[in-house]
Amino acid sequence: MPGAKRVLVLGSTGSIGTQALEVCAQSEELELVGLSAERSWEALVAQARAHCVERIALGDEHAAARAAEAWTDGRVLAGAEGLVTLVLESGAELVLNALVGSAGLGPTVATLGEGIDLALANKESLVVGGELVTALAEATGARIVPVDSEHTALHQLLAGQPPGAATRLIITASGGPFRGRVRAELEDVTVAEALAHPTWAMGGKITIDSATLMNKGLELMEAHHLFGVPYERIDVVVHPQSLVHGLIQMADGAMLAHLGPPDMRIAISYALHGGESAPLDITPLDLPSVGELTFEAVDLDAFPCLRLACEAAREGGTAPCILNAANEIAVHAFLAGRLRFLEIPEVIERTLSELGSEPVHSFESLYEADRQARALAGDAVARLG
Ligand code: NDP
Ligand code: MG
Repeated sequence: MPGAKRVLVLGSTGSIGTQALEVCAQSEELELVGLSAERSWEALVAQARAHCVERIALGDEHAAARAAEAWTDGRVLAGAEGLVTLVLESGAELVLNALVGSAGLGPTVATLGEGIDLALANKESLVVGGELVTALAEATGARIVPVDSEHTALHQLLAGQPPGAATRLIITASGGPFRGRVRAELEDVTVAEALAHPTWAMGGKITIDSATLMNKGLELMEAHHLFGVPYERIDVVVHPQSLVHGLIQMADGAMLAHLGPPDMRIAISYALHGGESAPLDITPLDLPSVGELTFEAVDLDAFPCLRLACEAAREGGTAPCILNAANEIAVHAFLAGRLRFLEIPEVIERTLSELGSEPVHSFESLYEADRQARALAGDAVARLG
């Protein structure tokens, strides 16, 4: 494909990753040059064959060795350094980071440090290292275009306005599978119930984050860093239909809303095309059959994860990094049946109060806070479980 944009997809075997490959296959303007996964080496090798890429990387060394035996048409890289080498060697003009969790921070830093544009699904990169990540992008001139339905909406809405014209940003939350329940009704919820998201099909971690509403807390931080808007001017509203993704409020009281089907390929395509709409084979909304759009306030008593995220966001320093790491450990333990649903915020709160927030001087201090928080959260899980 002469003249096509060279695209590297990190986390290509996941929910966002596989949809990104579909979007690339539909576009003459996008050429895949590399792919990565953590352990799913068979799926990754199949993708490498189907899309004729030059390089792949696996986070897990053992899985990488198996892939290297099975696929000899290109280079196989291994481990966390392998992911960074993939970014540096691929010659990509755009990297889609669709990894889960703070493991995405290293590749985000490598991408932006090289001045390569970043399509960012890995919101945890911004939650953990927001100030340093955006400063790095500014220093090298690399662009960050979000891959998150709410932030794609805001990006598109703000692109049509002069700077400062919007006075508030509003992101919507579906409310997850437990919308409308009071705290006492969340005591005994099961993993299967928490994974049954009403409107979006996503990877396991973000689906649990959506059930606890931590996802909305992470998204508040994501919006703050992406658009440089203070927290007092970003709101969350529950919108169970997941058809309005984001809104901006103007100085004269008008509100502009972004609507679309709950299909992540729209956000992925927008980011892969550098923040522009491109043709995509998706059925648009049929408004008469949509009928009603409804909105509700968030219940912070039933969903304390959002309150904890707001507090950590305002505190700043290493607090968001600690919150994120503790959440990753707690969600992992919940999915493994070692923690109850309401113990997720408990683990996070204990970890935050034990560690306290420190100023962030460097990426190193973030990696250290992440490591310490994981250890303490692991202890808290063991005590509760
Ligand atoms: P998935 O769990 O479906 O996929 C994650 C991908 O990353 C897989 O390819 C996985 O490999 C790989 N991976 C996981 N951990 C590591 C690691 N430690 N090192 C290297 N590779 C790793 O996640 P999603 O696609 O759902 O989410 C990806 C990101 O996008 C998250 O940050 C999420 O919050 C965000 N996002 C997702 C949305 C969605 O609709 N899914 C919507 C908005 C944002 P393997 O297959 O081997 O496990
Ligand atoms: Mg979202």
